[in-house]
Amino acid sequence: MSTKFSENLTRLNLFRRAFGEYKSEIILLTFLSFLSGFLESVGISAIIPLFSFVSKDQAPSSDFISRAIEKFFFYAHLEYTLTSLLIFIILLFLVKAAALFLATYLATRTTVAFETKTRNELFSETLKADWPYLSEQKVGYLDQVLTNDIDQSSKLLTYISSSIIVLANLIAYGLLVVNISWVVALLTLILGGAVLLALKPLFNKNTEISEEKSRIYKELAHHANENVLGMKFVKSAFVEERVLEKSREYFEKIKKLNLRVSALRNATTVLIQPIGLIFVITIFAFFYKMTVFNFASFAVIVYAINKIFALIQQAQSNIHTINGQIPYLASVLKYKNEAKKHEERDLGTASFYFQNKLEFNNVIFFYKYREQNVLWDVTFSLTKGEMAGLIGPSGAGKTTVVDLILRLYSPRNGEILLDGKNITDVRMADWRKNIGYVSQDIFLLNDTIENNIKFYSDDVTKDNMAHAAKMANIYDFIESLPNKFDTVVGERGILLSGGQRQRIILARVLARHPQILVLDEATSALDDESEILIQKAIEGLRGKITVLAIAHRLSTVKASDKLIVLDEGKIIEEGSPEELLKNKDSYFFKVYNLRTT
Ligand code: ADP
Repeated sequence: MSTKFSENLTRLNLFRRAFGEYKSEIILLTFLSFLSGFLESVGISAIIPLFSFVSKDQAPSSDFISRAIEKFFFYAHLEYTLTSLLIFIILLFLVKAAALFLATYLATRTTVAFETKTRNELFSETLKADWPYLSEQKVGYLDQVLTNDIDQSSKLLTYISSSIIVLANLIAYGLLVVNISWVVALLTLILGGAVLLALKPLFNKNTEISEEKSRIYKELAHHANENVLGMKFVKSAFVEERVLEKSREYFEKIKKLNLRVSALRNATTVLIQPIGLIFVITIFAFFYKMTVFNFASFAVIVYAINKIFALIQQAQSNIHTINGQIPYLASVLKYKNEAKKHEERDLGTASFYFQNKLEFNNVIFFYKYREQNVLWDVTFSLTKGEMAGLIGPSGAGKTTVVDLILRLYSPRNGEILLDGKNITDVRMADWRKNIGYVSQDIFLLNDTIENNIKFYSDDVTKDNMAHAAKMANIYDFIESLPNKFDTVVGERGILLSGGQRQRIILARVLARHPQILVLDEATSALDDESEILIQKAIEGLRGKITVLAIAHRLSTVKASDKLIVLDEGKIIEEGSPEELLKNKDSYFFKVYNLRTT
């Protein structure tokens, strides 16, 4: 019992967190719903005195509402006739319709407002989150949360609003029945309550199934996204059938769950109607036995009970849907909270000012789930205008050094200084603007070359763009295309060669005038010719930009002013390529001779 109570409390809390800010809209909606319910029940009750006008042999209507209507006419100095009563009923229903229309409009408006706002917040929290958190996210999950989960959650709001309207009507019709016969009202209440209570286990089952469904949809989205991204490898390995097989498992599971949800819903709907019918017959017997049989009262009460059962049916259907929708809302809120909790921190206030050196000072770093340090006491410096190469075996920690420079991670110990100041003192926006980053992964938008070079920045002018393209050795190629800078590059740049793509990325980075350029295996995946073109481009930057290039191709770093050799997270050599080549025991000497002989 107490777990049920706390479950309900959690749900309430969930609703409050999600929809709390729409409190005034919900209050107004509730008011309008009750107004509409009240007007409807008065309108229906007015049929009783209407009948008394029509058939003179009826027993006079003695219920409260009929008398109240009569009094209303009296105090309003209106003639109480059949016509005026008819007009009164029509007016009641018109006002009721207007109230209901407003309530429904309000519900829709709140729902779409919630949907838009949540999408905005969720995407913005995601983009603002820190890299360690983002790097752990599965592809496809965000898609799913942003589209499906938010869609389902906003439906929840629609169903809550609809439930408020249903509840208001239930109360109004309940009062109508009380007005005619409190015994019947009591019986209806007991029976209605019993029906809902009996169906409760089915509602809970529905929530369980929906939780499972929300989870499977996310896994499916992840599976589809992952394999679409890697489609070339899937095809080349000829494993389409295996990928499909796994997808089919998800499809099957979803099918089974959908069938179960539908069966649960139908079972409850089918049960309620006959119960209602039996009840109406019982009421007829009850009325018939009464001394004064007022036919109009009987007709109205049967109509009302019928309506109450229809409302209960709708309520149970709403409860089903709400229970089914809750896991989606929980997932949206959980995602939002997590992303918010991992918001990228930026305590920097200073501008980017670089005159002398970028230094690593005894930097120690390890990843979250790793016990071992990835960087041990790493100390080195880059002088302004220098071109430095960072080499070392795979897994040595080179990319980690780059990620620390990009401030995607922070040192666990030690510090990184720019002209003697901790780099975290610099505003993140300034920092990232001044550090150009090119990696092996090429990220191009399915858009024109121009928009790929501008990459969301309005600061990049046409001249900037052309200049950067020239520096990146890609200008002549772009000009040779029929549409020049307006050429669309295709999904992930599929219409260009690897070398062309990489030079466009280089142009993108250079168009932002970075002061430090970090190249993480930027040429590793390219052919020799493309590498030479990029190499030339980078050499053209000598003295203008400080460059740190990671490369396993020694030709890329041979012309560097300085080489830093990293092995197992430690710097083992540092010096100019010529100096290192003099030492026959050096890593550089060994690798250089191995590659060139
Ligand atoms: P390199 O660029 O020299 O090949 P990395 O800096 O990529 O080396 O990786 C250094 C070590 O850190 C490797 O052992 C790698 O497995 C580990 N590593 C890299 N990224 C992560 C991560 N996100 N979480 C845990 N370990 C990581």
